[in-house]
Order: sequence, then structure tokens, then C-alpha cells
Amino acid sequence: MILTPTAIGHHIGGRAVSGQSGRTQDVFNPATGAVTGRVALADAAEVDAAVAAARAAFPAWAELPPLRRARILFRFLELLQRHRDELARLITAEHGKVFTDAQGEVTRGIEIVEFACGIPQLLKGDYTDQVSTGIDNWTLRQPLGVVAGITPFNFPVMVPMWMFPVALACGNTFVLKPSPIDPTPSLRIAELLQQAGLPDGVFNVVQGDKVAVDALLAHPDVRAVSFVGSTPIAQHIYETGARHGKRVQALGGAKNHMVVMPDADLDQAVDALIGAAFGSAGERCMAISVGVLVGDVADRIMPRLVERTRALQVLDGMNPRAEMGPIVTDVARQRIVGFIEAGVREGAQLLVDGRGFDGRQAGPGCDNGFWLGGTLFDHVTPAMAIYREEIFGPVLSCVRVPDFASALRLINEHAYGNGTACFTRDGHVAREFARRVQVGMVGINVPIPVPMAWHGFGGWKKSLLGDMHAYGEEGVRFYTAQKSVMQRWPESTPKGAEFVMPTAQ
Ligand code: NAD
Repeated sequence: MILTPTAIGHHIGGRAVSGQSGRTQDVFNPATGAVTGRVALADAAEVDAAVAAARAAFPAWAELPPLRRARILFRFLELLQRHRDELARLITAEHGKVFTDAQGEVTRGIEIVEFACGIPQLLKGDYTDQVSTGIDNWTLRQPLGVVAGITPFNFPVMVPMWMFPVALACGNTFVLKPSPIDPTPSLRIAELLQQAGLPDGVFNVVQGDKVAVDALLAHPDVRAVSFVGSTPIAQHIYETGARHGKRVQALGGAKNHMVVMPDADLDQAVDALIGAAFGSAGERCMAISVGVLVGDVADRIMPRLVERTRALQVLDGMNPRAEMGPIVTDVARQRIVGFIEAGVREGAQLLVDGRGFDGRQAGPGCDNGFWLGGTLFDHVTPAMAIYREEIFGPVLSCVRVPDFASALRLINEHAYGNGTACFTRDGHVAREFARRVQVGMVGINVPIPVPMAWHGFGGWKKSLLGDMHAYGEEGVRFYTAQKSVMQRWPESTPKGAEFVMPTAQ
């Protein structure tokens, strides 16, 4: 049966709007390779319509007391809980990840909404009574206006939810530009927000590519831009947004190392490496892509890593036995294959080769899907492309080092600094690692240390351009401007003009 691809449009001013630019992009089911949708790619006029809708909605939304904005988010939260599996199915259908992993993604997004529901407390200002005789000083945080989010393919529900729940709770209106690779979940989210009582125009979705992104970056009414994606694009967003006078947080790519010390629980370390390297086919910015094996660890665990990589259940994401689904697109698959070839060429030892994986093994109808098995390299060195660059696929590269100091140096010399982990039983080593490693998010015996909703997410070095992390209190700061008010009343005002710098009296 051949299905007609669904036309996927925008959500502007509270309405589903079809694309007008005449440009579209195919949307695939990565498990089967079938084209299931055609997403509209917005032009500058469509972006302008979305920004205009958000701008028109801003004054009333910003004026609403934070508690009333929170009540709408509470209703949205209930709807998300009710529609969690439906959203997860939409994710698996366009991204390919395993359904239970997609459920987990929605849950991690829900946690940010739970955090944002506490906005009355989070927006509480500071107050100092009597900074000088008869004068009080306080600070408050006010929303910016229209803010935009530009998001990657790999978490089509969770990453937008790192942004808009906090932005909306603070009183901003929002324009989301999701990845055109998996555009449908954003539209469902827009409907759920509307059902929760969000006024029209407060949350808008424009589908698109570079044309839409560049229109947002240049738009004079967009006050701030949150971006999550690869580092070269993050750099473009950061520079262009700043040139247009916007606040920008641009989260980039990653190359996350997991150190295994000789005293670690090796059963746990093997489980952690396999799950963190191959979960979501390695297409996570917090995936572990480098195993740093200290001392004799490599000889002790390599046979087990080989066995486990070979035994991975690579299946259609809707199969309950699946541990890993397909790669998101054929282009991404070919790029990963290119890296595996480079690894072999540069002299790494290829212990398990995922290139031979046949889609027919993944389930009925999967012959033309974008499949790869897990790949495992040993004896990888820092000079190799598979070590230096982000592969963003199911490839685990293992580096052997003699001691803890060499492991730490290796990580600190890498250009990326998103996440990292150290597996050890030694408290001193754990403490030294956490304090000295030049990485934004650190796990001690935790392979994927994604911070909870109230802690904020962000890497260091090439993994984040900007100074504010996503969500948590940093998110509240990013989406608000601080204002300081100093007040005195006529009865406490001394007579006469003052010509010297006022100081506390
Ligand atoms: P990407 O950089 O290709 O795309 C991200 C967004 O930018 C998309 O909305 C895309 O449409 C847009 N875009 C793409 N090319 C553009 C261009 N030339 N000009 C303007 N906009 C453009 O990233 P992706 O492939 O969708 O996602 C994977 C990447 O995201 C990986 O590098 C991964 O590490 C990173 N990521 C980082 C984090 C983090 O928190 N640091 C989280 C998730 C993903």
C-alpha cells in the first residue's frame, strides 16, 4: 500500500496554516525509508507573519499575572501526561528512535513544564529596605517580548521544551522553528497548548530551513534566540544574532568521553558504555562516543564490549524488544559510514563493523530503511578524525591511556565540552575528576548526566556559545531582563539639587 505523504504546515496565530513559499522537504519514516510527509519550508514573509502574531499577543500575555500563566501551564502538563504515548509515537515515526526512549524524551520535557509551573516563585524579585535614608531599592525581572527557538532533529519534543515552557512562563511569546526532519510533534504541541487555554499567537511554529532561520535572526522584533544543534550552525546563529542585537544562547555539538578506572565496577561500566553509546543510535548530544580505558581496563572489558555490541537488538523502534532503531536519514547514515571508513584508513582497530547490517533483520518492511549496526573501534588516537569530530551515530571509539592524569588531559584538550563521566569506586578520584574536568555536565558513575529541570543544561567550549544554559534558573534569566528600581517619597527627600555622586547616607 502506498500512502500519500501528509502536507505539514505551520501554526501561526492559533491556526494551522499551509505553506505558501512553494518549497517543501520530504519527511521519512527512517525504519522503512518511506516518504510519509512533505514539510513546508517558510520564506521570510511567513516568518514575518509568525513574528507579527507573537508580537500582537505579547502585551496581554506579559500583563497576565504569573500565577495565571502558570495555571495554563498546569493544564498543558495534564494534557502532556495524557498524550505522552501519542507524542512518543510521533517521535518514533519521524525520528526512528525506540518507542520507550521516545516516551522517556517526552517525560524529560514534561519535567521542564513542571519546573515552569513554579514561575511565581521564580520571578520573585529582590528588595532592600533603606539603602540610604528614606530610599528603598528593588529588582524585578520582566519578559523580553518575542523570542525564538531553533531546534535539532534528535529530540523533537524535549529540546523545544527546554525553551518555550520557561519563555512563556516568564511572559514572552514564542516562535519555534523545529528541524524539518521531524516536524510533526511541534504542531501537536501547539494544539495541546491551545487546548490548555494559551491565547492565540503566544506560541507559533514555523517550519523551515536556513531561509526561515536567517529571517528570524535578522527580524527586528525577535529579542532573543535559543538554538540547539551542531557547532558550525551554532556559531552562525551566535554571530548573526549578536550582530542584530539579540540575546543568543547557542548549544552546539559534543564528543563525550567516559573514563573507566581500574577500580570501577566493570559490569556497570560495560552496561553504561553500551547503553550510552548506542541508545538512540548515538544520536544524542550526551551520548558517550569515546571510552577512555585506564591501565588494564581495556584488556579486561574489550571482549565483553565486542560481545555486547554484536548482540545489540537493532530493530524497528516500535518493536518492544528494540534497543536501537535506524539512523534518522540516509544522508546521516552515509556520513557515519564515511567516518567508519576514515577510522579504518587511519589505523584504528575495527572490532565490530555496523556497516554490514541488513534492514531485513530489523523487521518487516524495513529493507529500505536507514540502518546501521553498532560499531566498535579500539586503539583510537587523538589524531584520528573519529576521535576529533562528532560522528553522531552508533560508533564507540575506545582510547587506551596509562593513568588518570592522562585521561583527564585527553578530555581537557578536546575541543568539545558537553558531557563526560568517570566510573570509579575511589572518592578522591571522583572528586578530582568533577573539579578538574573542563566540561559542563559531569557524571560520577552516571554515563549520561543530563541535569534535572531546575539545574539547567549546557556544555563548555565548542558545545555552547553564549553564557546562559538552557532551562532552570539560567533559563529564567535568559528570557527576562532585570530592572532595578530605586524609590523615595517627597517626605524623605532632602532640599536642594545634588551635584555629587549619591552615596548611602
Ligand atoms: P543542525 O545544526 O543541522 O540543525 C539544527 C537546526 O538548525 C535545525 O532547526 C536546522 O533546520 C537549522 N539549520 C541547519 N542548517 C542551517 C544553516 N545552514 N543555517 C541556519 N540554520 C540551519 O543539527 P541537527 O543535525 O538537527 O542536530 C544534531 C546536532 O545537534 C548534533 O551536533 C548534536 O550534538 C547537537 N545537539 C546539541 C545539543 C546540546 O544541548 N548541546 C542537544 C541536542 C543536539
